[in-house]
Amino acid sequence: DSPVIYVITPTYTRPVQKAELVRLLNTFLHVVNLHWIVVEDSPRKTKLVANLLEKAGLNFTHLNVESPHSSKMLGSKLPFRTPRGTAQRNLGLRWLRENINSTNPPEGVVYFADDDNTYALELFEEMRYTRTVAVWPVAFVGGLRYESPKVDPEGKVVGWKTVFDPDRPFAIDMAGFAVNLQLILKKSHANFKLEGVKGGYQETSLLNDLVTMDGLEPKAINCTKLLLFGSGTPKLHFLICLVSTLLRGGNIT
Ligand code: UDP
Repeated sequence: DSPVIYVITPTYTRPVQKAELVRLLNTFLHVVNLHWIVVEDSPRKTKLVANLLEKAGLNFTHLNVESPHSSKMLGSKLPFRTPRGTAQRNLGLRWLRENINSTNPPEGVVYFADDDNTYALELFEEMRYTRTVAVWPVAFVGGLRYESPKVDPEGKVVGWKTVFDPDRPFAIDMAGFAVNLQLILKKSHANFKLEGVKGGYQETSLLNDLVTMDGLEPKAINCTKLLLFGSGTPKLHFLICLVSTLLRGGNIT
């Protein structure tokens, strides 16, 4: 059997929620050996999400935890914010650690898939055989047409193509990496930090405990293919794309 892909998705009630979840579900139904861990940001599980999952016909786990107040509304935009979805992703990690036998774990990978992104099917086969932490580019985030790990000719990750703070240890979007399941179970204290994490450092707060840049595995043909699309503002992207194309020319498909 191929390794299991555990997908952890935080989600919260708003008008587009069902549309987002249906879109994700329709994608995940095409992926074999996928287990969807949906974590609602709410004091109790909603009927909408429960019904959707029960009818879906894929392996799932339905959890809920309400975010601390600071991560909602204005709080999420402050410089030392509690980023959105953090408590939910940590609960997903806890579920894995409590429910998978760590002495004889299955082959697998853990992926954090927010409900507002679009995922190409090839992405899942790229991440499935991750040995430590796999990385790839993400389109339409960070005010760019895409953000990407920088990969040297030997196929090693050596830095980050981002506008925002490329000197971060891991300048990568939540959806731009996947972690080997056994690593998640072995490093049982690795979590996303809830408090005192600067904007853009949430991914680093987990990855610092799991891997160094040296150990990253670039996927999607050495990070040259876009298989994952965020929900950033198209107008802004168009503008930045135009400017960056004029400045250095594009090299990605
Ligand atoms: N989310 C959540 N509670 C909230 C806001 C967002 O659980 O109050 C979820 C949302 O459904 C998504 C993830 O957290 O799966 C990231 O949300 P968003 O993309 O809005 O956050 P950003 O990355 O822009 O901070």
